[in-house]
Amino acid sequence: MRITALAGGVGGARFLRGLRRHLDTLPDGPHELTIIGNTGDDITLFGLRVCPDLDTLLYTLGGGVHEQQGWGRADETFAVQHELAAYEVPPQWFGLGDQDFGTHIARSLWLGQGMPLSRVTARLAERWGLPGQHVRLLPMTDTPVETHVVVEEGEEQRAMHFQEWWVRYQAQLPAVRFVVAGMDHAVAGPGVLDAIRQADVVLLPPSNPVVSIGIILTVPGVRDALRGTNAPVVGVCPLVGGAPVRGHADVCLEAIGIDVTPAGVAGLYTDFLDGWLVDERDAGAPVAGLRVRACPLLMTDVDAAAAMGAAALELAMDLRKAA
Ligand code: GDP
Ligand code: CA
Repeated sequence: MRITALAGGVGGARFLRGLRRHLDTLPDGPHELTIIGNTGDDITLFGLRVCPDLDTLLYTLGGGVHEQQGWGRADETFAVQHELAAYEVPPQWFGLGDQDFGTHIARSLWLGQGMPLSRVTARLAERWGLPGQHVRLLPMTDTPVETHVVVEEGEEQRAMHFQEWWVRYQAQLPAVRFVVAGMDHAVAGPGVLDAIRQADVVLLPPSNPVVSIGIILTVPGVRDALRGTNAPVVGVCPLVGGAPVRGHADVCLEAIGIDVTPAGVAGLYTDFLDGWLVDERDAGAPVAGLRVRACPLLMTDVDAAAAMGAAALELAMDLRKAA
């Protein structure tokens, strides 16, 4: 079975680690998992290219993530960051650990040698053992793109990098809209559109619907591929009991005028979504045109995430049979 998933950082990575564990228990394996990762969060800091969502996926699937935090490396130290602070090198609102710096240095070196991000990511993924797990991690595009947030300051509007809005200002500055700088001349990364078209199942993990999944959907061709694929497309809701489990997805949804409800989120995907997994406490509200199923959607540990992966796959299989 070939499964393709679109993913942001922590929500996507935790779900996909669980799904990977579940896939290993199924017969007729190995089953192939292709992840299309969001690169809208990417940022150049200290001259280094940082890809927060790709790195969270690598570290989580590779067993090196800081488990409580959900991103960054376990057992991290911060000597480099302290030195940069001593030199008053900005920005100081974005925390990078020493081991994490190693990833960004390697990536920046290879990018500087002319390697596309997709190739660089494949090389990083080898170190984290992804090929051995039958996981391919594809950046949504090799074109450098950056999500910017237009915020209102009194009468004025100003655009800032998504990371500055999210990390420095904790999404507290009123957002008017999100724009992806560079997307107008971007093309989908190698293998991205085929991975959607040729999949047996397409999954949307409970990633942020606006600034993770929503950004991947703006890559030219991705939305058309999702509309055109024969595979059932099943999404997992990032809201539980009417609120995001972590992060500021509610603020992002409100900024673009979408209800902070499972139906509101599903509404962003209506042109291609077939099935929608919601938490038990959000059961009962039908969503037009969709097969909705309820199950526990809190990823308290890997087993819980594996059960969610199993439920999403089961829904996809039922939709395939029905088709
Ligand atoms: P980010 O890039 O690190 O922000 O991560 P993602 O975009 O992949 O995921 C963020 C989303 O994951 C948030 O909107 C959360 O509500 C959602 N999320 C995190 N943990 C859970 C969980 O245990 N269950 C569900 N259903 N959603 C979760
Ligand atoms: Ca992210």
